[in-house]
Amino acid sequence: MCICINCHHVNNCSTYFSIEKQHQKTHLNLAPEFVPQYPVINVNIIRSDLDLKIDWDVVECMSFVENPGKWLILHET
Ligand code: SF4
Repeated sequence: MCICINCHHVNNCSTYFSIEKQHQKTHLNLAPEFVPQYPVINVNIIRSDLDLKIDWDVVECMSFVENPGKWLILHET
């Protein structure tokens, strides 16, 4: 699971912007300004008979600041 969903910076982070783009999701912010330190992105390729899915998750990041559920709260408002 992507740690960004519980990070204080999620709505102003350039790396999370890229993750949203890879997932073809609506951006929380069209012009994020924060550049995180050393994010580590895990890319999983999930292949089935009919489909090929690529899943991108930030699994480590020096700039992570815990804010449980921030992403969910932003999506509910
Ligand atoms: S964990 Fe890192 S990459 Fe993810 S939103 Fe926070 S600062 Fe950005």
